[in-house]
Amino acid sequence: MKIVLIGSGGVGKSCIALRYLKDRFVEEYDPTIEESYSTTIELDGHTVPLELVDTAGQEEFKSFRDATLDFGEAFIIVFSITDDASYKEATKLVTKVEKLFMDEDVTPILLVGNKCDLKDRRKVEEAVARGFCEQHNITYMETSAKESTNVRDAFAHIIRLLRRTNPTGNG
Ligand code: GDP
Ligand code: MG
Repeated sequence: MKIVLIGSGGVGKSCIALRYLKDRFVEEYDPTIEESYSTTIELDGHTVPLELVDTAGQEEFKSFRDATLDFGEAFIIVFSITDDASYKEATKLVTKVEKLFMDEDVTPILLVGNKCDLKDRRKVEEAVARGFCEQHNITYMETSAKESTNVRDAFAHIIRLLRRTNPTGNG
C-alpha cells in the first residue's frame, strides 16, 4: 500500500510520519525533506507492506500523480487547526484528489486537522472541517503528532479504507 501525506508546509506532515513510524516527535524538522519510507505494519491480524511518502511541496504532488493513479493508493491530506490558509489549501487538495479517483466507489482520502493540542490557537472549527468532509463523503480526524493523539487511528482508518477498495491487493 502506498500512502501519501500532502498539505501545506509546516502543518506537521513529517512529524506525523515520524510519530507513526518511530513514535517520536521533534520540534524542528527539516522542511525540505521528501522521504519515502518502506515498512510493514500489523493491522487487524494482517501484515501490511506499507510505503509512506512524506512530501514537501505542491510540485511533488504533480510528479507522483501518475504513479498514484497506477497503484490506486491513498492520501492523507493534512492541515493545521491553527492555520486557516492551510485548511483552505487542504480543501483544494481534496477536490484535486477526488478528481483522480472519480471512477472509484471509495475516495481514498482522509482529511486530518493536526496540532489539535494547540487548542487556544485554533483557527479552524472542528464543525466546519467535519461539515466539509460530510459533503465530500470522506472522514475527518484531528491529530496531534506532538501528543500522539489519533495518529495510529488515522493510519488504521486509511489502511482499512484501502483494504476495502482493493481487498486482493498487496496487503
Ligand atoms: P511539514 O512541513 O508539514 O512536514 O511540518 P513539520 O512536520 O516539519 O512540522 C512543522 C512544525 O510544526 C514543527 O515545528 C513541528 O514541531 C510542529 N508540529 C508538528 N506537529 C505538531 C503537533 O501536533 N502539535 C504541535 N504543537 N506542533 C506540531
Ligand atoms: Mg515536512
